[in-house]
Amino acid sequence: MSLWTWVIVFILSSQYSVLVADNLSERISSVFRRICHAAMRAGRAPESVSLVAVTKHFPVSAVAEAVELGLRIFGESYVGEAADKRETILRENPLSSVSWHMIGHLQRNKVKRAVSVFDCIHSIDSIALAQVVDEYAAKAGKTLDVLIQVKLSEEDTKTGIAEAGVQALAERIKGFNKNLNLIGLMAMPPFFEDPEQSRPYFRRLSDIRDTLAARGIELTELSMGMSNDFETAIMEGATMVRVGSEIFGSR
Ligand SMILES: *Cc1c(COP(=O)(O)O)cnc(C)c1O
Repeated sequence: MSLWTWVIVFILSSQYSVLVADNLSERISSVFRRICHAAMRAGRAPESVSLVAVTKHFPVSAVAEAVELGLRIFGESYVGEAADKRETILRENPLSSVSWHMIGHLQRNKVKRAVSVFDCIHSIDSIALAQVVDEYAAKAGKTLDVLIQVKLSEEDTKTGIAEAGVQALAERIKGFNKNLNLIGLMAMPPFFEDPEQSRPYFRRLSDIRDTLAARGIELTELSMGMSNDFETAIMEGATMVRVGSEIFGSR
């Protein structure tokens, strides 16, 4: 072989090794390792934290690969996108018991479809929305897990119910028939480069959960923490972390 052939082989193989070092399986293992370490540092069992793999804007092929690698909970922000992916995954892999979590803002006119697509909705933020979801869940004969999304900052781009309204909303949901199973609270702090700055928000959500418990409303789940701050969230009690780019790369 000529020198140039060797140069080309060298360049291709070095790129290949970058791809291999960067593959999905390693990224997933790395995220699980970090979840374990954070849980142990907080004196908690690693199994007390579940990983919601956020696949919004990533192709269904990435979801399929993640299913092959053992992930079972996927978070999506758009009803139509999730519906298409769910259908494909069900068709390709009918026996995988994948669950789909709605983590984005849910519009009233999308509720009917959302109820048929999702197993869990993290973003219940008003009594009116909870009522519509309950209504469609009842019609579909389905029970959905739901979380109340709490607005912890005044940033107007963030959806969620103000802290003052959380208890009343929780009581209303508990008072519905049996189609909504209220399991916890969700929050999304403003974005910070430094995860330490998210910590007070996570602590706040955990305090709200404790206050509700003292008033007789026991909620087990705290959905908080994303790619840049999930370890801090776990230290503050997260039981569900929603991780996208750290697994699938940048969107
Ligand atoms: C996109 C999204 C995530 C995941 O964000 P990454 O930074 O990619 O981990 C988590 N939660 C919500 C509500 C999101 O919209």
